[in-house]
Amino acid sequence: MNNDCIFCKIATNQLPSEKVYSDEEIIAFKDINPQAPVHILVIPKRHIISADELTKDDIELAGRMILIAQQIARQFHLDGGYRIQTNIGADGGQVVPHLHFHLLGGKKL
Ligand code: AMP
Ligand code: ZN
Repeated sequence: MNNDCIFCKIATNQLPSEKVYSDEEIIAFKDINPQAPVHILVIPKRHIISADELTKDDIELAGRMILIAQQIARQFHLDGGYRIQTNIGADGGQVVPHLHFHLLGGKKL
């Protein structure tokens, strides 16, 4: 938990969010500024800054994050395809420094 991190606060329910999935180590919630009809963020509850911080110890976590995104894509009927994207650092376009996978779909991207 990083006290200055908005996604840590969402993960601990100190900030509201529209959650679509939650388990012991991962949550998913609707993006507040959607760039597509379906725009959901999948995040670890643990404060990991970005995918660049992942280590071998996180292989299962990272794999599960992708499978959860896949499961949510099915739940939202993204049958025509979708995008899973993660931005890393300032040059990668990352604004919130807590690892998140964007799940985008519902239109031709
Ligand atoms: P990134 O640019 O990859 O760091 O993406 C950060 C994303 O977080 C953006 O798509 C924002 O719209 C989204 N976001 C920021 N604050 C919130 C929030 N409180 N609830 C939901 N999504 C948020
Ligand atoms: Zn955090």
